[in-house]
Amino acid sequence: MKIPQNGEFGYAGRYAPSPSGYLHFGNASTALVAWLRARSENGRFFLRVEDTDPQRSKPEFAAAAQEDLRWMGLDWDGPVEFQSMRTEGYQAALERLNQKGLVFACRCTRKDLQAAVDGAVRAPHGAEDLGPHYPGTCAPLGLPLNGPYTVRAQGDGFPVRRADGAWAYTLAVVVDDASSGITEVVRGSDLESATPQQEQLFAALDCVPPKYLHAPLWMGPDGQRLSKRHGAVSLRDWQASGRTAEELVGRLAWGLGLLEEPIPVRPRDLLQDFAWDRLRKTPVPASDYLPLAP
Ligand SMILES: [Zn+2]
Repeated sequence: MKIPQNGEFGYAGRYAPSPSGYLHFGNASTALVAWLRARSENGRFFLRVEDTDPQRSKPEFAAAAQEDLRWMGLDWDGPVEFQSMRTEGYQAALERLNQKGLVFACRCTRKDLQAAVDGAVRAPHGAEDLGPHYPGTCAPLGLPLNGPYTVRAQGDGFPVRRADGAWAYTLAVVVDDASSGITEVVRGSDLESATPQQEQLFAALDCVPPKYLHAPLWMGPDGQRLSKRHGAVSLRDWQASGRTAEELVGRLAWGLGLLEEPIPVRPRDLLQDFAWDRLRKTPVPASDYLPLAP
């Protein structure tokens, strides 16, 4: 596995949607911020589809995401990467971790883990990947890694491969960021809690982690992170109502603190004045900035 040194070719950033539904305003906001950051640094920007979960990923959503991002006025360098086509890299990483004694197989059921844990810590994205804190039951058992078991990292026990063979988000994203030479990750602040585990994996794989920056989340009227249960919040809904990409980008930039008022703009119109420090630091109440249809 060829792993370029981070920074060898200058700034490299990425946006990595999960194709489990249509992109919504919150996804569009994070993509916009990641693109602005990369392009304002004259950096390269990649698009990676996080489709390691065969049960939730749909090719039509991956295609729709590319169409919707282009419709917004965003672009990216090189071909789109699909995690489902990069399993050799994940296998190689798992073997390296195993050689170092940093992983073990675990046969605990979800019920076992729930029973062992009070106050499970869950992350909104890939919640099942992070899971509850692992009590460490199977670490000393030496179960075979190629059995029908979850493979976990030594220490806090986060999964790197599921019992059904699907690669866990944490391992896949670290291997991909390393092999693409990503120097900085801009993502939603819901993923901030995943940073220590990812930095731990980078170190275990003898790679330099990227810098992590966290963009503000968009919240529904109930104070929860914006999602489709808040109504017509997808870019497809927006297009269907006859509104323009320029209006959406202007309203997102307004909510993010990048515009004083919601004027229609293309993403490139925001480049000249973009600075990370100008971004709002707190979650964005979506209904203050966007018409949310039921
Ligand atoms: Zn176990």
